[in-house]
Amino acid sequence: MNTNKYVLALDQGTTSSRAIIYDRNSNIISVVQEEFTQIFPHEGWVEHDPIEIWATQMATAQKAMLQANLTYQNIAAIGITNQRETTVVWDKETGEPVYNAIVWQCRRTANYADALKPHEAMIREKTGLVADPYFSATKLAWILDNVEGARERAENGELLFGTIESWIIWKMTGGKAHVSDYSNACRTMLFNINTLEWDDELLALLDIPRCMLPTPVESSAHYGETIVELFGGPIPITGAAGDQQAALFGECCFNEGEVKSTYGTGNFLLLNTGDKPVYSNNGLLTTIAWGLNGKVKYALEGSVFICGAAIQWLRDELNFIDSAAESNELAAQVDSTDGVYVVPAFTGLGAPYWQPNARGAIFGVTRGTGRAHIARAVLESLAYQNEDLLAAMEADTGRKIDVLKVDGGAALNDLLMQMQADISDLAISRASSIESTSLGAAYLAGLCVGYYESLDDIINNKSIDRIFRPSITDDEREQMLAGWKRAVKATIAYCAE
Ligand code: ADP
Repeated sequence: MNTNKYVLALDQGTTSSRAIIYDRNSNIISVVQEEFTQIFPHEGWVEHDPIEIWATQMATAQKAMLQANLTYQNIAAIGITNQRETTVVWDKETGEPVYNAIVWQCRRTANYADALKPHEAMIREKTGLVADPYFSATKLAWILDNVEGARERAENGELLFGTIESWIIWKMTGGKAHVSDYSNACRTMLFNINTLEWDDELLALLDIPRCMLPTPVESSAHYGETIVELFGGPIPITGAAGDQQAALFGECCFNEGEVKSTYGTGNFLLLNTGDKPVYSNNGLLTTIAWGLNGKVKYALEGSVFICGAAIQWLRDELNFIDSAAESNELAAQVDSTDGVYVVPAFTGLGAPYWQPNARGAIFGVTRGTGRAHIARAVLESLAYQNEDLLAAMEADTGRKIDVLKVDGGAALNDLLMQMQADISDLAISRASSIESTSLGAAYLAGLCVGYYESLDDIINNKSIDRIFRPSITDDEREQMLAGWKRAVKATIAYCAE
C-alpha cells in the first residue's frame, strides 16, 4: 500500500472543474478535468448550476485519487481555488440552491451598480473595489429581489450565501462549515478589507441580511473535514483562495514588491503590497492576497482583457497559424514589426485607460507588411499592455519592479517572454510548472497541516525553468514604447467620434 502523502488541489474554474494531486516537490501526480454547462438565459447574463459545479468537482477529485491509486489516507489536506465573485444562495437545511450561480461575467446588475456610483468613494475605501456588477454584492441583491420568497427566507435565517469556495466547503463538510476565505470575501464588495469584517454600511446599502453571510477565515486554516461518503474517510480541508490570489501564492510572491502575471485568455497582474492596502490612482483594484498565520497580505490587481485571446484571433479569424504555439515561429520570421502596431482593444481598453468603447486597430501598415509582421505586432501588444499595468503599479507604489514571475498558457511563448523582458526592462522568471493557481491552493492547504514546513520550504522545492533578461538599449525601448502610446492614443481618438 502506498503510504506517501500528497495534497489535493481543487481548481473550480469558470468553464471546468479540475482536481490536481501534488507531491512535496510540486510535481503533479494526477490531474482530472471536467467541463460543465455555461447557461446564458439572456444577452449578457451568465449562470452556472451550483449542483453541477459540485458534482463535477467531486467527480474529478475522486477520479484523480483513483487514477493515482490513492485513498483518503494518502491525502494530507485539500486546498481549493476558484472562480471569484460568482454568487450562490442555498437553503441552510436542504442544501438546495434557490437560483443558479450568477457568474462573475454576468452584467445583469448593471443598473444596481449605477445606483451605487454616488457611494463609490466609500466603497473604494472599504473594499478596494469599484462599483461594478462584476462583484458579488449586486448579484446577491438581485437574487434576493427576484427569486420569489428569497428575501423573506433570508431574513428568517433560512438561506446562506457564499462564493464558490464557500459553497464547496459547505458541501464537503456536510453543512458544518460556512466560511469564506479573505481573498474571496474581499471580492464580494461587502467586506471591509481594513477591519476584515462584513461591513454594516455596505450591507444596509444593498439590503443584505447579515445572517446569510459566511464566517470570514484565513486562507490557510482548518475549515473542517470531508464527510466520509465522499472519499471513504475524512480529509482535512485547510486551504482556500480566489484563483488570482492563489496564483500569486503559487508563484511564491510571498513578499512585498513581488509580482506575477498570468498570461491566459486575458492577463491578470497582481503585486504583493505587503501588510497595508495600497489604493491606486491608475484604476487598479486593491485586494486581499491572503490571510496566513494571523496576518493579511494585500495586493494591487490589474487585468488586460485580451491576451491569449489575440493569439486565438490570429489562429481562428485570420488563419495565420494552426496552433497558438506557432505564433512564436511566425513572429520570429522577422526581426521587427517594421513599425506595425496592433492595439487588440477588441472589447475595449481596461486599466489604465478605461475606454470601454475602444475597438482594435492596426497601425503602420505598408506594402511590405506581411503576416509575420502582424503576428509579431500582436505578440508585442500583449507585452505592451502588461507594461502599461506594471508602470501603473510602479507609479502607485513608488517602487521599481525588478522581476516578473509568469504563468498561464501564453507564458510558454519564449519570444513573448523575451519581448516582455525587453519592453518592461525587467527579468522574467518562468517556473517549471506554470500551474501556479492550483499550486497556490496546494501550498496554502499543505502549510496548515505541516506538509510544507514553511514558506522557505516551499521556495526551496520550486524550480525555475528559465529567466529572460532585457536585451535592448534604453533608446530602443523608449522608441518602441513611444510608438505604442501613439497607437493607443489614436485608437482612443478614433473611438471617441
Ligand atoms: P485560460 O485559463 O484563460 O483558459 P490558459 O492559461 O489555459 O488560459 O492559456 C490559454 C491561452 O494561451 C489561449 O488564449 C492561447 O491562445 C494562449 N496560448 C497558449 N499557448 C500559447 C503560445 N505558445 N503562445 C502564445 N499564446 C499561447
